[in-house]
Amino acid sequence: MLNYTCIPVGMLQSNSYILKDAATGALALVDCGVFNKPVREELAAQGGDLRYILLTHGHFDHIQGVARAKEAYPAASVCVSAEDAPYVRGEQSTIPHRPMHHKSVRQPDLLLAEGSVLALGESALRVIFTPGHTLGGVCFYCEADGLLFTGDTLFFEEVGRDDLPGGDWPTLRASILRLYDLPGETAVLPGHGQASTIAHERKNNLYVKQ
Ligand SMILES: [Zn+2]
Repeated sequence: MLNYTCIPVGMLQSNSYILKDAATGALALVDCGVFNKPVREELAAQGGDLRYILLTHGHFDHIQGVARAKEAYPAASVCVSAEDAPYVRGEQSTIPHRPMHHKSVRQPDLLLAEGSVLALGESALRVIFTPGHTLGGVCFYCEADGLLFTGDTLFFEEVGRDDLPGGDWPTLRASILRLYDLPGETAVLPGHGQASTIAHERKNNLYVKQ
């Protein structure tokens, strides 16, 4: 069984999720906008066995804390899609023509693609490739526990922006429609704001209805 704790961080209040496999205590961090004291303390309180730093996409408000997290937990694998890896490597800035303001990780440890499966103790997370907000946005799906970490692809009754570099509305819409194929009771755990469910979004999302 996979448990999770949500900690909103930084000026844009991007959600960092700490995932814990109940059987083994193995931990993963989903997105790391700021590696701040609440996140550090929560990781330590949960045993500190951090295996993965999982990135839903490369925007600064989701990755700015990655270098610090990797420093604190060198054994944790930094995971991002190949398409969004340039952000993590510091080769590409979220805001065009602005220099990077964070100390970047040079190279992710693992490049994610559609169908990649990450074992976290006795739990498993499957990668669903959901481009449209960025070129390489992904969601992390734990089928056994009905948890879906959606980054900036799908929010409570909203969707991510499609007007930033790499964004594209038809692509984003198609990604969200794929998510709507998941069981209705699946928890939607977004990169900003409150949680939802797939069933709620199919009915009430302002941008993509099924
Ligand atoms: Zn974003």
